[in-house]
Amino acid sequence: MSGISLTGVSKRYPGGVLAVKGVDIDIESGEFVTLVGPSGCGKTTTLRTIAGFETPTDGSIRIDGEDVTDAPPYERDTGMVFQDFALFPHMTIHENIAYGMEASGEYTDEEIDARVAEMLELVELPGVGDRTPDQLSGGQQQRIALARALAPRPKALLLDEPLASLDKQLREQMQVELRRIQQEIGITTVFVTHNQEEALTMSDRLAVMNDGRFEQVGPPDQVYNDPDTRFVADFLGTANIFDGSVTAVDDGYATVDCGDVTVRSKSRPGIEPGADVSVVVRPERFEFGTASADGGTRSTGSVENVFEGEITFKRHLGSSVEFRLETEAGRELVVVRRSGLNQRSSGQRATVRVDPDDCRIVEE
Ligand code: ADP
Ligand code: MG
Repeated sequence: MSGISLTGVSKRYPGGVLAVKGVDIDIESGEFVTLVGPSGCGKTTTLRTIAGFETPTDGSIRIDGEDVTDAPPYERDTGMVFQDFALFPHMTIHENIAYGMEASGEYTDEEIDARVAEMLELVELPGVGDRTPDQLSGGQQQRIALARALAPRPKALLLDEPLASLDKQLREQMQVELRRIQQEIGITTVFVTHNQEEALTMSDRLAVMNDGRFEQVGPPDQVYNDPDTRFVADFLGTANIFDGSVTAVDDGYATVDCGDVTVRSKSRPGIEPGADVSVVVRPERFEFGTASADGGTRSTGSVENVFEGEITFKRHLGSSVEFRLETEAGRELVVVRRSGLNQRSSGQRATVRVDPDDCRIVEE
C-alpha cells in the first residue's frame, strides 16, 4: 500500500479562482483521511489534483513515493467514487466491476471473473453479477461503485461525497460498511464530505478546509476537543464562544475578561495579557452546579467559570439532553448532559460551571 504526499499544492482555475492555496499533508499508507469543510472551500479540487484530473498551479504530489504531479490519471493507480456514482446503466453489475480491469488489458478472463466475485463478496452482494444497475437499490449501487473502484487494486481510494445522496439511515449504515471494507483491505483513502459528523466518525485524521486552506489537520478527538481556530470550533459541532481580552496569564492558564463574565481557560503558547482572544467551551463540558457548591465557590472569592441564568429551552437528543441557558446579560449557553443526570426543566433558574482545563483559547 501507498502513502500520498501533497507539498504546497495550489490550484488556480483558468477563470482566475484560486481554489486551493498551498496545502500540505503526508497521508500514511492505509490511513483514512477526510477533507471536510463548507461548500466551495476546495475539497473536490484538492481530490481531483490527487487523481490527476486537475494539474496543480504550484506544488507537488507524490503517491507511493513517486512524483506524479504531471502524470495523467491512468498512470496514478487511484480508484475514485463520486456522489452520483454513475454505474454504466446498460452493463451488468459484473461488467461494471470488470470495466477497469478489461480496459487495462492486463488480465485474463479467469482473473477478472475471480476478482469480480471477490469484490462482490467484499461488498456483501454476492450473486448480483448478472443484474443491471436499475435492479439494485441506491445503497446497493453505491457498494457496486466501490467494488468497481477497488477491482483493479488501486494504490489509493479517492471518494468525493459518495454517501451524500443516500438518506440518513442508509448513509450511517454505509459509513460503517465503507470503513469496514477500507480497514479490511488496508487501502489508503482520501474521503471528501461537507458533513462534520461523517468526518468525525469515519476518519483516522481529518483536514478541516476553509477557503482553500487546511485550517487544522489531526485525529477527530483532537480537532474536536482542541480546535486551533474559531472556524474549526464552529464548523465541527457546537461551540460556546466567549470573546474577550486577556487580563492575566499564569501557570498555563489565562484569565479572560468578556465584559459580562470572566472566563479562566487553559492557555496556549504566545498568549499574553492584552490579547483579544476567543474561548471555546463544548456543550458537554458544562456541569450543572448545586446551590451548596455555588456557595462554596463564592466563599473562596471566585466565581470564575460559573454562569447563572434561566433555562429557556430543552430537548432530548437520545442518549443526551440539550439545554439553552440565558444569562442576565443576555448570553445564551448551550449545555449538553447525559440523559438521566442532573435533570432541569425549562423556566428553571440554574447554574453551570466549566473546568478551566475544558476551555480552549482559539485564534480568530
Ligand atoms: P468543494 O468541493 O469544497 O465544494 P470545489 O473544489 O468544487 O469546492 O470549488 C472550490 C472553488 O473553485 C469554488 O469557488 C468553485 O466555484 C471553484 N471552481 C471549482 N471548479 C471550477 C472550475 N472548473 N473552473 C473554475 N472555478 C471552479
Ligand atoms: Mg465538492
